[in-house]
Amino acid sequence: LTPHDLLDSGRARIHDSRRLRHLVDVHRAAPGDELTVGMENGGIGRARLVRLDGEHAEFHLGPLDETPPPPLPLHLILALPRPRMLARTLENIAALGVKRLTLLHTARVEKSYWQSPELADERIDAHLRLGLEQARDTRLPVIQQRRRFRPFVEDELPALLEGHRALVAHPGGERECPRGLDMATLLTLAIGPEGGFVDYEIAQLRQAGFEQVHLGPRILRVETAVVALLARLY
Ligand code: SAM
Repeated sequence: LTPHDLLDSGRARIHDSRRLRHLVDVHRAAPGDELTVGMENGGIGRARLVRLDGEHAEFHLGPLDETPPPPLPLHLILALPRPRMLARTLENIAALGVKRLTLLHTARVEKSYWQSPELADERIDAHLRLGLEQARDTRLPVIQQRRRFRPFVEDELPALLEGHRALVAHPGGERECPRGLDMATLLTLAIGPEGGFVDYEIAQLRQAGFEQVHLGPRILRVETAVVALLARLY
């Protein structure tokens, strides 16, 4: 639910057809059901569905006093994946607790990916919400899109890296990706595109303070690498 859905402190109503369909098709919800609901960027609690038709769903809300799980102390920098992979990747990232994501252009990202309708804010938010709902989380990640690698690394990253340990996942190299980091460690993690980072980009990232780390000899698809890296790091 969003604050916009609230009718008063005890009732909420949703109108949009996508969420109504989701209630019916995915949750098989019917009037009288008790559901778990979360307020965007707020608490979680129980609600009774009192009305459901083609136009609205109306809920009577109990206290939304359960807190969502803790976020990961991580800024993820991800070379923009191909549109087909983006949706599932965003869902996974949100479910795993990433709250800050930069989608970045790199040499091996196809320029056409930036034209994808999947990058519209409402499409991105819809994928993130699916992941949050799965993980009983309510805090929407902050996403930024950066279409030029070099100005981002040279002009923006230095300030963003203050107080952070920075890792770039890149096959090969000597250092294995660390495991089980302390949740007090602020981390920035860079993950490359399907074709990997080019040498120049690795050199720039290393110069900016990133340690190059690998996950062993198996080269993973981006969507798998994201999950493997996050599960290993925390
Ligand atoms: N041929 C590319 C290369 O050698 O870099 C493979 C790229 S991989 C499909 C996509 C991204 O996932 C990589 O840029 C990296 O960030 C991450 N990745 C996948 N497997 C990895 C591994 N074994 N070690 C470190 N990073 C990995």
